[in-house]
Amino acid sequence: MKFSTKQVHAGVVPDPVTGAILTPIHQTTTFVQPSVDEYMATGYSYSRTGNPTVRAFERKLTVLEGGADAAAFATGMAATTAVFTALLGAGDHVIVSDVAYGGTHRVATQVFRKFGIEFEFVDTADAANVARAIRRNTRLVFTETPANPTLKLTDLRAVSEVTRAAGVPHAVDNTFLSPYYQQPLDLGADLVVHSTTKYLDGHNATVGGAVVSATPDMHEKIAFIQNATGTIMSPMVAWLTMQGAKTLSIRLDRQSDNAMAVARFLEAHPRVGQVAYPGLESFPQHDLAKRQASGFGAMLWFEVEGGLDAGKRLMNSVKLWTLAENLGAVESLVTHPATMTHPGIDPEERQRIGILDGLVRASTGLEDAEDLIADLAQALDAV
Ligand code: PLP
Repeated sequence: MKFSTKQVHAGVVPDPVTGAILTPIHQTTTFVQPSVDEYMATGYSYSRTGNPTVRAFERKLTVLEGGADAAAFATGMAATTAVFTALLGAGDHVIVSDVAYGGTHRVATQVFRKFGIEFEFVDTADAANVARAIRRNTRLVFTETPANPTLKLTDLRAVSEVTRAAGVPHAVDNTFLSPYYQQPLDLGADLVVHSTTKYLDGHNATVGGAVVSATPDMHEKIAFIQNATGTIMSPMVAWLTMQGAKTLSIRLDRQSDNAMAVARFLEAHPRVGQVAYPGLESFPQHDLAKRQASGFGAMLWFEVEGGLDAGKRLMNSVKLWTLAENLGAVESLVTHPATMTHPGIDPEERQRIGILDGLVRASTGLEDAEDLIADLAQALDAV
């Protein structure tokens, strides 16, 4: 079956009692056990350990990513935290992409470092850097591609070859492209992490996360942490995310078309400096983008001539675009990473890795491209 068929049907079983076509929201704490001897006969005991609505979403995502199983979490950060908690202990060394979501950097440096885990931030765009950084005590390579917010790409096949040879698991944050455009497990990775808050939900309705594992063994480790630490996705969020995921491919295709139209408009605009979108021929890793993903996504960034102040004036002048944190939903959003999503990274380090102070991050939604462009044009005139 092809992707759009799977995104509608995978994981969903009509309710056997009523015939309801949508998996019900099983809003319950506990599950009645027929007898002591038949404990868990239904497969469920207590909603922290497992819930049928959450399980339906986990099954859908497993199929979409081509994994062995998935575990859903309260947020994307809870998913990343579960990977770190499941695989790391004191004295271990971890390689993380030098450009990654600010919260990943924060939990690594301000939470896990306290427990004696060493995080090294490496430019994973070049797999040779990963090979050089791997040590005897390296227990995880965690990459994010395209990376938030610079969109730097990691060659997943090349890095997975390095990690496989070293016997180190490779986890990939696949939030920006979703399984519709990029399937890291197929390219050799061992784990996929999602902030389901973004494209999988797609409607700015929830916060959630998930980890998809390539093998049952790996899933068992993640599911143990899910139950032990209790950072679970709620049935309501699972249900909403499941409805969102059913339209993932059509949303993403249209949002990506919008991103391409907006990127081309910005590239030709005299008041705009750099524009980065993996679909543009000018994007430094355009060939890799074409090779490892089936689409370019709906995230881009640009710099307004005049730097930070001009960028701020633009973000304050847009009327249709919304200034807000988040990405991937039907509403087009602009964000200022230096102050909104990546403020915890040292300013010098931010500059070094390309998170420039004037960088405006844009997530294109489902509006008409003409309207999005007209709004940017009036905001650029106001700068
Ligand atoms: N990974 C990426 C690439 C993100 O952009 C985000 C949030 O912006 C996260 C993870 C964290 O997800 P959440 O906000 O759902 O905790």
